[in-house]
Amino acid sequence: MKRTRVRFAPSPTGPLHMGGVRTALYNYLFAKKNGGDFILRIEDTDSHRFVPGAEQYIIESLNWCGIIPDEGVGVDGPNPHAPYRQSERRGIYRQYAEQLVNGGFAYYAFDTAEELEKARAEAESEGRTFIYNATTRGKLRNSLTLSGEEVQELLTSRTDWTIRFRMPEGRTVQMDDIIRGHIEVDTSTLDDKVLWKRADELPTYHLANIVDDHLMEISHVIRGEEWLPSLPLHYLLYESFGWERPLFAHLPLLLKPVGNGKLSKRDGDKMGFPVFPLKWVSPEGEVSRGYREDGYFPDAFVNLLALLGWNPGTEQEIFSMDELIEAFSLDKVGKSGAKFNPDKAKWFNKEYLRMRSDQELTELFMPVLSAHGISAEKSRVQEIVALIKERATFVSDFWDIAWYLFKAPEEYVQKDAAKFWKSENVLMAREALSATASAHEMEEYIREREWPMGKVMNCIRLALTGSSNGLGIADIMRFIGREEALERFRRAEERLII
Ligand code: GLU
Repeated sequence: MKRTRVRFAPSPTGPLHMGGVRTALYNYLFAKKNGGDFILRIEDTDSHRFVPGAEQYIIESLNWCGIIPDEGVGVDGPNPHAPYRQSERRGIYRQYAEQLVNGGFAYYAFDTAEELEKARAEAESEGRTFIYNATTRGKLRNSLTLSGEEVQELLTSRTDWTIRFRMPEGRTVQMDDIIRGHIEVDTSTLDDKVLWKRADELPTYHLANIVDDHLMEISHVIRGEEWLPSLPLHYLLYESFGWERPLFAHLPLLLKPVGNGKLSKRDGDKMGFPVFPLKWVSPEGEVSRGYREDGYFPDAFVNLLALLGWNPGTEQEIFSMDELIEAFSLDKVGKSGAKFNPDKAKWFNKEYLRMRSDQELTELFMPVLSAHGISAEKSRVQEIVALIKERATFVSDFWDIAWYLFKAPEEYVQKDAAKFWKSENVLMAREALSATASAHEMEEYIREREWPMGKVMNCIRLALTGSSNGLGIADIMRFIGREEALERFRRAEERLII
C-alpha cells in the first residue's frame, strides 16, 4: 500500500484563520493515525497577495499547537522533496505547463489585459458574462487560433502571455470525495484557467498545487470546502498528465456562532473572541487578537478545533493529541458546516485549566502578579492557586478572583457599602474581629450572640475585599492574616461613611 503523505499548503496572505489551523490539524491527525508524513508547503506564487510575516506566523502557530510537520518549510529534519516553498521551486513548473501544451491539453494565450477587458465589457453589454472557454477561445488570440510562426514570434517578442488549460467540451467530470461522496460536474460550467504566466515566470495555484502534490507523492488532499470548485480542474489536470491522483477530502466550513455563513474576524470582534491562533499585527498596524494571547492553552485550542467538524462517535469531549490521533478518521468528519460556539471554547479552556497542576499554574500566575506589581512567595501563591483554580477559565482570571489576597482594596463597591456598611453591623463586626483569633472563632462568637451572621460577615468582607462577594471569609483571613484583616477594617472605618 502507498505510504500516507498529506500536506498543509497555506498561502502566506495574512494570519492563519482558525479554520486553517483545523485543516492543518486534521491533516496531521490523519498522517499520524496512518503512520504517514505531514508536510508543510508554502504556496506563495501569487506575489500580489504576499504578506510579510505571514509565513513565520503560520510556522509559529502550528508550533504553538503542537502540529509539527515531518517535512517542509521550517523543518530541520530530512527534507527529501525540498524546497517546500513554491517561490523557490519556480524553475520546476514551466516544463509541466509546456508538457500540457504539447499534449494538446493547454495552449498559449496572448490576449492582453485590455483585450480581455474589452471582451468582458462586450459580453456584459449583451447581458452575458465572459468566460475564456470552448465557446470563446476560437475567437481570441491564442495558439489555437494563430499560425505556428505567429505563435513563435509572440512567444519571444512578448512577455505577457500565459498558458491556459484547454477545458474539454461536453464532458462530465466524475469525482469522488471522501467526505462528500460522488460529485459530477459538467465541463461547460468551467473555464480555461491560467496555469502559468510568462510575466513573472510563475505558475498559478492550480498548476503548482498539482505538480507539487505529484512530486511530493501526496496520497490524500485534505483541505477546506472552498477548494471544492477547483476539484474538476484538478481531476482533469491529473488525467492530462497521466498521473495517479491522490484521494480528496473537503472539510466543512466553520460557521458563525449565530446566523449563517463563514466564521469571520468580524464575528470575533463583535462577540469578543479570537479567530486567529496568535495575535497578529498587520503591516498596516491593525491588531487582531489571538487564542494564545487571550490565555487559551494550546491543547485546549487543539481539542476544541478537533471537534469542530469531526465527531468521535462517543460522548467523549476531552482528548489529548495522542487520543485524537487514535480516534481520528475522515469518515467521522461531517459534510455540513460546524457552528463555532465561543462559550464552548471557554469551557474547554476551563477544563484544561482544572487538569493543570497547581505548580504549573503557579508558574504561569507568577508573571501576572509581577505585572501587577506584586512580589509574593511561590508557596503562598500555589496555595492560593489551589484554592481558586476551580473558579477560573483563564490564568488571568486568578487575579480578578483573588487580587485582594495580595493587596488591600483601595475602593469599595458603592452599592455593597450602602447595603452592608451600617452602624450596627460595623459595631458587631469590629467587636467580633478584634475579640477572636481566627475566622472559625469569629463565627462562633457571632453565633453565640445571635447576631445576624450574613450582615456581619458581609460587612467584614466589604472591608477586606472592597465588595460583598468573593472567597469565603475564612480563606481570606487565612491568607492575609488577622493583623492585616484588622488593619483593613480600620481603614474601611476611616474611609466609609455610614
Ligand atoms: N494554497 C491553498 C490555500 O491557501 C491550498 C489549497 C489546497 O490545499 O489545495 O489554502
